[in-house]
Amino acid sequence: MPALNRYFRDQTTAGYTPRTISQALNWSCQHIEQVDARMLLQHVLQVNHAYLLTHSDELLASEQAAKFFRLVLQRVSGVPIAYLTGVREFYDLVFKVTPAVLIPRPETELLVEMALAIIPESRSCRILDLGTGSGAIGITIAKHRPEAFVTAVDLSVDAINIAKWNAQNLGIENICILEGNWFNSLAAGKSFDLIVSNPPYIAKSDPHLQQGDLRFEPDIALSADADGLSCIRHIIMAAPEYLVDGGQLLLEHGYNQSVLCRQLLAAKGFRNISSHVDLAGIERVSVGRNFI
Ligand code: GLN
Repeated sequence: MPALNRYFRDQTTAGYTPRTISQALNWSCQHIEQVDARMLLQHVLQVNHAYLLTHSDELLASEQAAKFFRLVLQRVSGVPIAYLTGVREFYDLVFKVTPAVLIPRPETELLVEMALAIIPESRSCRILDLGTGSGAIGITIAKHRPEAFVTAVDLSVDAINIAKWNAQNLGIENICILEGNWFNSLAAGKSFDLIVSNPPYIAKSDPHLQQGDLRFEPDIALSADADGLSCIRHIIMAAPEYLVDGGQLLLEHGYNQSVLCRQLLAAKGFRNISSHVDLAGIERVSVGRNFI
């Protein structure tokens, strides 16, 4: 790292000489993954991958080179790519992300797919997204089901602002984004047909929290007490108050929590309980139906 800092200084001070796209990529690939280098350079130049491939001899402007080098340094120190570029693709949309929100994960697309399979296309349906973060789940559902109305809740004001920005930027109007602690900002009453959530579920003692991207993500979105199950348990216990007769609860959970999650759902009286595997073959989303 000190050597890299020195290199960076040399490149951006008196001795700086502009470099081409291919030189910048070759240099950065000595320090970070090729795919990361490509994403950072695309972000700096605001171009796509094809452009990089077909303009490899193009010179970078000095401020572009300086910005790229700075981002490479941050990546070397572990900052997630999505926080450096400020965006992450999820399902078929692109979301703004900042360190105030969890970076949307591919496995959460399973939750969205399952929700879309449940929500009718041409009939109104009320959906609650608990702990919406960037809004990825709620906004994607709202976009694909224009007849539905999504209420999205988060405890973090910073997250709410990002989710609202995303909804507006994507032109989504059938969503209401509210500050609240799980259900506490909602009027009691059986008002939702479907509740979805990707709550924090990693155990506080899990060493993964000290590794990779997770080190930079908000703890409030990642980890929970009671071996990671406290939020899942709270949601399962409170959800029936807010679900119509026959309404469903759809929860993302950890790789080793499906059995416990099904048990909690069953103990609370949910029926038609099942768990579904993500693309990695891990039981990642569990669902149950509430009957009054
Ligand atoms: N799926 C994330 C991970 O394991 C955690 C997100 C969450 O706690 N909801 O990295």
